[in-house]
Amino acid sequence: MCAARKQTEDGLFALTSERRAVALFRLVLGFMAAVMLAFVAIEGWRIWRDYRQVYSNAENAVSNLARATAQHAEDAIRQVDAITAALAERLEGDGFAHIDRPRLHALLKQQAQIMPQLHGLFVYAPDGSWIVTDQDAIPPNANNADRDYFIYHRTHRGRQVRIGSVVRSRSTGDLIIPISRRLEHPDGRFAGVLLGTIKVDWFVRYYGDFKIDERGALVLAKRDGTILVRRPFVEQVIGRSLAGSEIFRQYLPYASEGVAEAVAVVDGTPRLYGFRALSSYPLVVEAGLSRESIIAPWRHDMLKSLGVLVLLLVGLAGFGWMVLRQLRERIAIERALHQAHQTLKALAMTDSLTGLGNRRRLDAVLEPEIRRAHRQGYALALVMLDLDYFKAYNDRYGHPAGDQCLRRFGDLLQQVLKRPGDLAVRYGGEEFTLLLPATDAQGASLIVQEILQLLRRQAIEHGGSPLGQVSVSAGIAVGAPTLETVTPQNLIAAADAALYEAKRQGRDRYCLAGRVTVAAAP
Ligand code: GH3
Ligand code: MG
Ligand code: MG
Repeated sequence: MCAARKQTEDGLFALTSERRAVALFRLVLGFMAAVMLAFVAIEGWRIWRDYRQVYSNAENAVSNLARATAQHAEDAIRQVDAITAALAERLEGDGFAHIDRPRLHALLKQQAQIMPQLHGLFVYAPDGSWIVTDQDAIPPNANNADRDYFIYHRTHRGRQVRIGSVVRSRSTGDLIIPISRRLEHPDGRFAGVLLGTIKVDWFVRYYGDFKIDERGALVLAKRDGTILVRRPFVEQVIGRSLAGSEIFRQYLPYASEGVAEAVAVVDGTPRLYGFRALSSYPLVVEAGLSRESIIAPWRHDMLKSLGVLVLLLVGLAGFGWMVLRQLRERIAIERALHQAHQTLKALAMTDSLTGLGNRRRLDAVLEPEIRRAHRQGYALALVMLDLDYFKAYNDRYGHPAGDQCLRRFGDLLQQVLKRPGDLAVRYGGEEFTLLLPATDAQGASLIVQEILQLLRRQAIEHGGSPLGQVSVSAGIAVGAPTLETVTPQNLIAAADAALYEAKRQGRDRYCLAGRVTVAAAP
């Protein structure tokens, strides 16, 4: 393996290890993001589901409230309807000329007592004067001809019971809902009015018993929108019209019951309303829970769990940040260690005097290079060089000068070797080795000739040599591409033998080993 390639492979190693670290970093980052996202998604889903649940519960609640209040109103009015129907039948049947007032008074009194919602029962003559009531005393000159219901029955021939708007009672001062009926002579002439009154308070107390928050509302209204009763009870609201409200305009024309969100016209509160039109009477009930009262507990719960979620996310992010920081530090440490390792390895394989590789370097690459040459089918040249009479040089010029000479020769070798795959090492002492991949005997000879030539031209004075200047001898061994038997040992031995031959022939020259495997195979 050559120096350049070695460097490339080290680089590759560093690159892949760094890539692995970066991939791990990304993986951790992605995982953290996925976990956090999952938390947010689950919590979001839970909050949404709770919201739906809260709303669906509220829808059921207002729907049930509407049903209960509708039933209550219907029962209360039906009783009055029934009693007035029976009384009318009796009065008309007996004839108005023969009314037994004391008996009738006793009957009205008895009926009023068994119906707690009832405020009073009244029979009026065609001129509006009081004929009989459930009360013991009739106020002198009492006349109801001006009342709305009285005028209506006098001018309308319908026999149905009529539910009027709330009025204040002339006998007791209470707020009452008048339920009235026309009386007729057999020939159809107007014979007076029969009136049953229901206390508004009866409804107010019943509505007050429901457990709804103070912003909730219960309303009993006529089908035309006129309010009869409302919780919370405010007297000014009685008689106001709901005809312009969303429920009366957009829902009631199409459905007799349902649930709708609307802003109240009376107090501007957004509510969820259950509404219901009574089946037997032109009345409507509405039961509303304020949006705020529905949402508030949910919102409180949501804020709490959002707080917990935020804490959790912050914790997770902090933890993730720590893990990622550790990972980053580890990557940096690994990189530094790797670099230090590379530096040490390079130092361990470098000759400190010449800066060339050392023998360890040759040992490390020779065997892989032989295998590679064999695999790729090219020749591999190994050259051993030994400075001539160097002991004498040291003796004459001193050791430091000898070192200087060795350095110059090292520079010369590096100057000559131009291919990146070529390697020059100091094998030991004044001996050097060249490893030349993809080089045959002829190529190696040219290189060695150039080295000898350059050294001669440098003409380093050497008084101890018969040549008068520093010279070098070389032995070249070439591993043939197809032969299996080339080994580091026999390649070096063959080059050594050729070097010995060059020395023997007089130095300052080179010799070629024969076919390595033949010459030096064990
Ligand atoms: P030959 O021509 O047969 O090679 O003779 P030679 O004197 O070069 O051979 P020999 O192996 O006897 O001597 C090698 C000498 O190289 C011995 C030593 O003084 C010198 N030498 C070895 N290593 C170093 C070194 O690191 N620095 C210096 N200055 N001299 C060295
Ligand atoms: Mg020597
Ligand atoms: Mg020598």
